[in-house]
Amino acid sequence: MNAPRIGLGYDCHRLEVGGDCYIGGVLFDSELAPVGHSDADVLLHAVCDAILGAAGLEDLGTTFSDNDERWRDCSSSVFVEHCMAKISKKSLGLVSLDCVLICDNPIISPQRAAIRQRLSELTQLEIDRINVKGKTTENGDAMRITAQVVALLIES
Ligand code: MG
Repeated sequence: MNAPRIGLGYDCHRLEVGGDCYIGGVLFDSELAPVGHSDADVLLHAVCDAILGAAGLEDLGTTFSDNDERWRDCSSSVFVEHCMAKISKKSLGLVSLDCVLICDNPIISPQRAAIRQRLSELTQLEIDRINVKGKTTENGDAMRITAQVVALLIES
C-alpha cells in the first residue's frame, strides 16, 4: 500500500550545570546542559524516534543502546544519519518534520533558524518542511528539557 506513514517521537533529558548544550545539532551558549550517554541532544533523539516509528523500525534506545560504548559521547547527528539510511533501505523518504521543544532554559527562539538549517542538512529536507517551536514549562520543572516530533514518510 502506497500510503503515507506518520511517526511520533518523544524524548526528555535532565538539565545540569556545565557541559555542552546541544539541541537540534546546534550548540547553545547555556549554563545548563542536558545529561545523557551520547551528547544528550533531546531534539535529535525525538527526530530519530519519529522517523524510526513511522518506518516501523525498532526505537532509538534499541537501535543505539546506552550499553554500547560506540555511542558514548557520540554526536546525535550520527544517529539521524543512520536513521535516514535505514528508511532509504526500506524505500521510504522523509516528507516533513514538526518539532516542539519544552524547556525554560535555554531559550529556543534565537536558535530556531539554526536548528531548522541543521535539521535540513541532516535530512535533506527543504527548510519549509521542517518546523521547530519552543515552549516554556509555565513554572513546571526548569531542570528538564522535553522534545516532541512528528515525522511524515512516503514510499520513494
Ligand atoms: Mg535521549
